[in-house]
Amino acid sequence: MVTLRSKDEVDKIRHSAQIVAGTLQLLKSMGAPGVDTGDMDKKAEEFIRDNGGEPSFLGYHGFPASTCISINEEVVHGIPGRRIIQEGDIVGVDVGVYKNGYHGDAALSFPIGEVSERAKELLKVTEESLLKGIEAFRPGNTLGDVGHAVQSHGEKHGFGIVRSLVGHGIGTEMHEDPQVPNYGKPGSGLKLRAGMVCAIEPMLTVGDHDVKTLSDHWTIVTRDGSLACHFEHTVALTENGPEILSVVPTGEKVSAD
Ligand code: MG
Repeated sequence: MVTLRSKDEVDKIRHSAQIVAGTLQLLKSMGAPGVDTGDMDKKAEEFIRDNGGEPSFLGYHGFPASTCISINEEVVHGIPGRRIIQEGDIVGVDVGVYKNGYHGDAALSFPIGEVSERAKELLKVTEESLLKGIEAFRPGNTLGDVGHAVQSHGEKHGFGIVRSLVGHGIGTEMHEDPQVPNYGKPGSGLKLRAGMVCAIEPMLTVGDHDVKTLSDHWTIVTRDGSLACHFEHTVALTENGPEILSVVPTGEKVSAD
């Protein structure tokens, strides 16, 4: 069942999503060769709690950390603390925050030092795909329009579109209906209505779109070992179109120090 959110509820989701955005900026600022992803996770948790929130991911179905940090061939759900960041990596950070009864969820990816041209293109096109999907998230359109916008942009540049993981509605639960696939046919699927709040989250790969789960039961990697990239925003659908909620408010402090 898809829940339509009131203005007051959207305000609360926005507040949580803004803390997410600040946490992502902090994580990005920490990314450098030699950094332990476990230390990044600890700083992120501190930042979330300093802002009065709780990390949505910690303990979610037993997940052992406050953030997901996924490097190179890891698509999503990487457990912090297993890897040291290296020059040439691409690093994806994914954060959820729960506060005042509502969740926010977002992710971004960034390069460490010099990365390959194809890696740079993957980062750029994945973020663009997210923005294309958000543009299509408007009243009167359908979920198929959103998926099609993401998929067609990614495929135009020769990238794989991960299909077995999808975006989702978000609110009092981190994962709510509807599922938001990153592929689809224009005009197909659920009709979009003002009041819907969704996390839209394309995952693109340099190679094939097929993925597998590692023996830690969490980390999802590309089956062919190719590079993967993930960007995500929490987006509210208003009468006038989409509003991205997971952005740091202008002029506010975005780092913990
Ligand atoms: Mg999500």
